[in-house]
Amino acid sequence: MSSLYVSNVSKSYGATEILRDINIDVEDGDFLVLVGPSGCGKSTLLSLIAGLDTLSGGEIRIGKDKVNDLHPSERDIAMVFQSYALYPNMTVGQNISFGLEMRKVPKPARDKAVQDAARLLQIEHLLDRRPGQLSGGQRQRVAMGRALVRDPKIFLFDEPLSNLDAKLRVDMRTEIKKLHQRLGATIVYVTHDQIEAMTLATRIAVMKGGILQQLGTPAEIYNTPANTFVATFMGSPSMNLLPARIVRRGGELRLLLGEGAAAIDLPLPPQPAAIDSHVDREVIAGLRPEAIGVEHGRPGAVLRSVPVTITVLEPTGPDTLAALELAGMEVAARLGPDLAHQCGERCELMVDLSKLVLFDAQTQQRIA
Ligand code: ADP
Repeated sequence: MSSLYVSNVSKSYGATEILRDINIDVEDGDFLVLVGPSGCGKSTLLSLIAGLDTLSGGEIRIGKDKVNDLHPSERDIAMVFQSYALYPNMTVGQNISFGLEMRKVPKPARDKAVQDAARLLQIEHLLDRRPGQLSGGQRQRVAMGRALVRDPKIFLFDEPLSNLDAKLRVDMRTEIKKLHQRLGATIVYVTHDQIEAMTLATRIAVMKGGILQQLGTPAEIYNTPANTFVATFMGSPSMNLLPARIVRRGGELRLLLGEGAAAIDLPLPPQPAAIDSHVDREVIAGLRPEAIGVEHGRPGAVLRSVPVTITVLEPTGPDTLAALELAGMEVAARLGPDLAHQCGERCELMVDLSKLVLFDAQTQQRIA
C-alpha cells in the first residue's frame, strides 16, 4: 500500500477549465472519498490519478514516485468501475485471474490469489459462472476481486455502487468498509452520494465546479463545514441556513436569529476571536436539524429554549422529521420518535447552540 499526493493539479479541455489547483494528500491506508455534485470533476481527478488522462498542470505522486508521465499499467493501481467492465465470455475465476495472466504470474500463484480473493469476497461458489449468470451485487464483488488479486499500491473506485438497488447498496457499502478495515488498503473512492462519503471515508474531499471546497475527516466536514456549500451538501435533511446578525450587548455577544418582529435573541456560546469582526454585521447561522428539539443534552451542549410552530411532522421510525416555523423562517428538525407534539402546535423546543456554525453572509465561508 502507498500514500498519494495530488499537488496543484489542474485540468482543462481546450479553454474549459475542469479542475483548478487541487491539493490532496492521502496517507497510507486512508480511505479518501471524492464527493460532489455531478459534473464537479470527481471522475476527471480519478482518471488523472489512474493515468487514463493527462494533467494540464501540477503533480501526482504515488509513494515517492512522480507518476505524471507513467502509463496506467506502470502505476500499480487497481480500478473498480461503475460498469464493472467484466469480460462476458469468461468465467468469474477467469475474470479475476486475467490481469495476473497478462502479467505472466505463474498458474499456481494465480490460482491461489483467485481463491484468496474469492474467499474474502464470499464468491467461491460462483467461480465457474459467467457474469451474465450473476446478480448486480455478485458482479460488483467480482469486479472487486479482480482489483484485489493485483495487490496494488492504491485502489480506485468510480461510483461502484451506483448500479445497485437501495438495499444492496447499503449491504455492499458495509462490505467495502469491512474490506478496507481488513486490508488496510489505500483507497480513493468517487461518489455523488453524501451518505456513502460519510460512512466509508477516513477523509472526505468535497468538490464543486472543479474546485476543492474542503478536505477533512467526516466529523470535520459535518461539524465544521468550510462554507455554506459543504454545509448543505453533506447531511440530510440539509443544515438550516438562517439569516442572522451578531450584536454586542453588555459585553456579551448575542445572535439575532431572523429578521424584524419575529427575530429571536440568543446568547452566543464562546466563539473564536474571528467573530469579533462580524459584530453588527449580517451572518448566516447554520443549525443541523438534530440540533433543534434536543431532549437530552450531551456533555458540552448549550441548550436554549426557542418558540416554534410545528407545521409538518414526518415520522420515519427511529426519528421524526419536522418542518417548524422558527423566528419567522421555515426550518427542518430531526425530533425524537416519542416527542408528544402535534402538527400546528406552538411550543418551546431546545436548541443546542454548541452546534451552531456561523458563516460570513457575503463570502459564505465559515467564520473560523
Ligand atoms: P463528475 O465525475 O464529478 O460528475 P466529471 O469529472 O465527469 O464530473 O466531469 C467534469 C466536467 O468535465 C463536466 O462538466 C464534463 O462535462 C467535463 N468533461 C469531462 N470529460 C470531458 C472531455 N473529454 N472533454 C470536455 N469536457 C469534459
